[in-house]
Amino acid sequence: MTADIIDGKAFAATIRDKVTGHVARLKDEHGITPGLAVVLVGEDPASQVYVRSKGKQTVEVGMNSYEHKLDPETSEADLLALIEQLNNDPAVHGILVQLPLPDHLDSDLVINSIDPAKDVDGFHISNVGLLGTGQKSMVPCTPLGCLMMLRDKLGNLSGMDAVVLGRSNIVGKPMAQLLLGDSCTVTIAHSRTKDLPEVVRRADIVVAAVGRPEMVPGDWIKPGATVIDVGINRIERDGKTKLVGDVDFPSVHAVAGAVTPVPGGVGPMTIACLLANTVTACCRANGLAEPEGLTA
Ligand code: NDP
Repeated sequence: MTADIIDGKAFAATIRDKVTGHVARLKDEHGITPGLAVVLVGEDPASQVYVRSKGKQTVEVGMNSYEHKLDPETSEADLLALIEQLNNDPAVHGILVQLPLPDHLDSDLVINSIDPAKDVDGFHISNVGLLGTGQKSMVPCTPLGCLMMLRDKLGNLSGMDAVVLGRSNIVGKPMAQLLLGDSCTVTIAHSRTKDLPEVVRRADIVVAAVGRPEMVPGDWIKPGATVIDVGINRIERDGKTKLVGDVDFPSVHAVAGAVTPVPGGVGPMTIACLLANTVTACCRANGLAEPEGLTA
């Protein structure tokens, strides 16, 4: 048996189409154009690529994109003042501060200064608390994308055994909350977990978010399980730089029921969910019905 490959690129395109439709309706019926502000401090090359891609896709779905590129030496006071200005700007429905921030800036303080209703990354402490208590929140984009792919592939997730590898605030923990919300039996594994292969072997659903290239081999996977590979790791192989995930794709593909590739799996879903969150935030801000199928 070989696994189905879950095409994140194609699925992300369907999400963007839905977003485009909602944006068009918001404009036609209500005269509102959703706006996303992205703040980049410094010149980290990877962050610059992400921010460019986010801005481009925001415009492609018909929304307004506001990019704020700040000097690496920007003071915390100046950054907080910009966020305050964006919080008060009715044309801005979503605010994203690209992480990581330079060391002299306190990321928690900065993220928690964003209006929670505009926190389209879902990292504000209020949104973390709302998600943890099963209330309506802004959901972090990468786990939201993973959940959408799982629901699409498996339908109802209720009662399934899920193992989330990794306990970061941006992927592992919110992913576990979302799976719990869908009534999975959830285990969160991390670097101190004993007998990791045995833990993973129990799972109907495996979400790997570890940041270690090809760490999970096929013989850790229950036959037929669904494997979502969040990892993005750059490695050198055969004299070339290659992008690989946290699972060993060939051996996992031979055992699993379905698996996401890297690249082309979770990655494209993350930006699609950012656009989805911006439309959701815009609808909530204007007291309008939320788009279906774009939230958890
Ligand atoms: P973090 O480094 O913040 O967290 C990694 C987690 O993996 C930690 O909880 C750590 O455990 C755990 N871990 C590390 N080594 C092991 C091990 N040997 N066995 C078991 N657990 C281990 O990473 P992120 O959550 O930010 O990201 C994870 C991966 O996902 C990265 O490759 C990142 O690039 C990728 N990513 C991809 C995105 C996308 O859009 N596709 C978006 C965000 C991230 P402990 O807590 O004990 O240290």
